[in-house]
Amino acid sequence: MIHLWQDNWHPLGVLYERFGSRVIYDAHSRLDSRLDSVLSNGIWCWKPARSEELVDIQSRLPEVQLGYVDKPIWTVARKGSYVSADTWDFLRDKKCEVDWWHVVWFPFAIPKHAFIMWLAVQNRLSTGDRLLAWGFQGDAQCVFCRNGVETRDHIFFMCSFSARIWKNCMQRCNDLAPSLDWQRVLNDDCRTWKKKTMAGVLCRLVLSSVVYNIWKARNAIKYQNAPKSEEQILKQIFWEVRSRISGREKFKKNRENVKFCHLWNVDVSILV
Ligand SMILES: [Zn+2]
Repeated sequence: MIHLWQDNWHPLGVLYERFGSRVIYDAHSRLDSRLDSVLSNGIWCWKPARSEELVDIQSRLPEVQLGYVDKPIWTVARKGSYVSADTWDFLRDKKCEVDWWHVVWFPFAIPKHAFIMWLAVQNRLSTGDRLLAWGFQGDAQCVFCRNGVETRDHIFFMCSFSARIWKNCMQRCNDLAPSLDWQRVLNDDCRTWKKKTMAGVLCRLVLSSVVYNIWKARNAIKYQNAPKSEEQILKQIFWEVRSRISGREKFKKNRENVKFCHLWNVDVSILV
């Protein structure tokens, strides 16, 4: 539906923006009135103009093409119908694109992993150092190795416990000596994982699954006194990555991808 005073249908533009509220009163109308309130069977039926502004408005009416069906138009969307992406684009506060987004949000990403990764990338997880900064008085040591204050960069992956898990998983991605430096992983390594190749998808899946499961294991120790073994965490990561990589998009059949299938115990039928 088109609004008489608030939509852009008249040659003079949005009438409320141009003339203000006084003209609405003069026209015996309301701010939320629809265009069809001054139409009857396709013919204009305005009340007699009693102000110069109304004369202006009514004198330009012949320029308006009638005959179209009065239908709702979602003006923020390019095609005029509701599209959530266009609406979000209109409402959101636009900032510069970050170069790490493809590591967090990608078609294979597991949503709960992506959320924790998103927090980790921005150093927003409630790690020991951040808890101390907030005035927390308790133990801020790393729960895995008890060797230093728990920071984001320590648990991902300077910590000896998480480093073993990270290395083990990355070896299955053909990286026998992965970096243990978070910034380096994010800035350098992730750039090579942008591609939609099986290696690129695997590395991104592994990173977010390792981050998620290490953080989950850390919380289980800290808040439930329920430690998990390295093998249990690895088993969970392997299961998650294998499940995600199987039965989704097909990957190119080449020697490298066949090797990945063997390393992750995935059926080679996903290769074409
Ligand atoms: Zn540690």
